[in-house]
Amino acid sequence: MTPIDLRSDTVTRPTDAMRAAMAAAPVGDDQYGEDPTTNRLQQRCAELLGKEQALWLPSGTMANQVALRVLTRPGDEVVAGRECHAAWHEAGGAAANSGVQIVEVGEGGVFTREHFEAAIKPRGLPVFAPTTLVEIENTHNRGGGLVFPQRDVEAICAAARERGIASFLDGARLWNAAVASGRSEAELAAPFDLVAVAFSKGLGAPGGSLLAGRKDLIAAAERQRRMLGGAMRQNGIYAAAALHGIERHRERLREDHAHARALAEAIAGCAAVQLDLSTVQTNIVIWRLAPGALDAAALVARARAQGVLVSAFAARTVRAVTHLDVSAAQIARAAAVLRALLA
Ligand SMILES: *Cc1c(COP(=O)(O)O)cnc(C)c1O
Repeated sequence: MTPIDLRSDTVTRPTDAMRAAMAAAPVGDDQYGEDPTTNRLQQRCAELLGKEQALWLPSGTMANQVALRVLTRPGDEVVAGRECHAAWHEAGGAAANSGVQIVEVGEGGVFTREHFEAAIKPRGLPVFAPTTLVEIENTHNRGGGLVFPQRDVEAICAAARERGIASFLDGARLWNAAVASGRSEAELAAPFDLVAVAFSKGLGAPGGSLLAGRKDLIAAAERQRRMLGGAMRQNGIYAAAALHGIERHRERLREDHAHARALAEAIAGCAAVQLDLSTVQTNIVIWRLAPGALDAAALVARARAQGVLVSAFAARTVRAVTHLDVSAAQIARAAAVLRALLA
């Protein structure tokens, strides 16, 4: 039996219809600006995100790295939420590629204007690394797919603007945040200078991310993309998959959210599970294993033996992610397997 793979929403395989769209895509050399499908995707995303311009990037990590290069100088400080992707999952890239240090504030991935203001280090004083960027992750991955409260987003970005501090949204899962909050992607992106979104997660495309923002910032991002080796050629094959995901797989994200909710509710009552159901707002379920219960590695191995794949996110923390390639029936089966192991 094929395993029920809840390790990540990146494990989806392109559907037959997505593959057909990829095969049929008109293409050209994107570095001459001549790939019609990439151009169409960038235009569509600029509209959806309410920004002047957008730029394809091969991965979400490169989108984040390019954003840092565009919005900071070496030696600067970046304020972000706890356990942000940029600090935890980019292999030290922020330090290596941009020479910045990231300060994590708040709790569980979210933070307030007060947290942000307390962390700001002034410019022009020789002992400080000046704060030049604030970064918000929405939804927040390690926070359990949390939607960042929009009133806090607006207050934080307003405080940043008042001080000439740039703002960046790591919206790899902004599509999920939009569906869960009932706010458009454009509304969620409006307070920010630059916004990143990913096509390779809930939308089910085989790869790709995108940055959107003002023309001057996107021009700078294009140069950084080239410098980091991320400029591609007949990219329309990928862009067609992304467009297909945007038009066909965006609304159905609510199914993934319902599945995550069902899974979370099924295991939340187990003695071994520490899980705050209020954090389960989108397609990610993260729980801690109670003291004395099995650890994450043991749970992952035992679940795997029964055909259910989940991730050990820390020694006693486990993550399950729902996506396009898992059905309601598979979620019910995964929930039963996990419940038996956690009882
Ligand atoms: C997955 C993810 C990324 C990086 O995307 P890749 O395409 O895997 O490089 C960036 N930010 C967040 C919040 C993510 O979850």
